[in-house]
Amino acid sequence: MRILLVEDEAEMAAALASALKRYDMVVDHVATLAEAEEAIAADVHGAVLLDRQLPDGDGLALIPILRARAYGVPIIVLTARGELTERIEGLDSGADDYLAKPFAVEELLARLRAVLRRPSGLQPDIVKAGRLAFDFGHREASVDGRPLELPRRELLVLETLVRRLGRTVLRSALEEAVYSFDDAVQSNALDTHVSRLRRKLADVDAAVEIHGIRGVGYLLRKVP
Ligand code: CA
Repeated sequence: MRILLVEDEAEMAAALASALKRYDMVVDHVATLAEAEEAIAADVHGAVLLDRQLPDGDGLALIPILRARAYGVPIIVLTARGELTERIEGLDSGADDYLAKPFAVEELLARLRAVLRRPSGLQPDIVKAGRLAFDFGHREASVDGRPLELPRRELLVLETLVRRLGRTVLRSALEEAVYSFDDAVQSNALDTHVSRLRRKLADVDAAVEIHGIRGVGYLLRKVP
């Protein structure tokens, strides 16, 4: 899952980014409305965390731009303005949730899980294939109920493939899911993650396989 964090306070942004990374999220951080508009044009984010008081305006101004594209990405507004009227304004403008600073990072993560669970994406909480189950709410993979421990990028690859189970996922879409704008991506890095993941799935006999289509992408399917 890739998150867009729109926050101009450097310390706050760094703390949030590191918490989200611990939760296996890929974080793209921007500090202004203008940068945020550019970032959302790429359409690669699973959720947006949006500060209101930004150097070039009110963060809420971004919401109609997002919604006008029928872009159903969950948005959580983060702000120091915790007054009731401000809260209502945030929700009325189309945000999915509203969190007043200061807040505990655990609460933010819980709210994030909640908005990601909502049925807007028509995505069930848990997808099963073969003996593999992927829980999107907790972002965990398991095989016959046993947790499958995976490094962050392998988990992100698996999550993206499971979301489109049985369908080809383009290399570019996988790279977008796994790397932030700031990461330098080596051309064969994705294949390395996929081959490690493939081996681990085979080792635990998950009864799914990652099928590669040369130069195009990958798909996850049940072992026939
Ligand atoms: Ca601010």
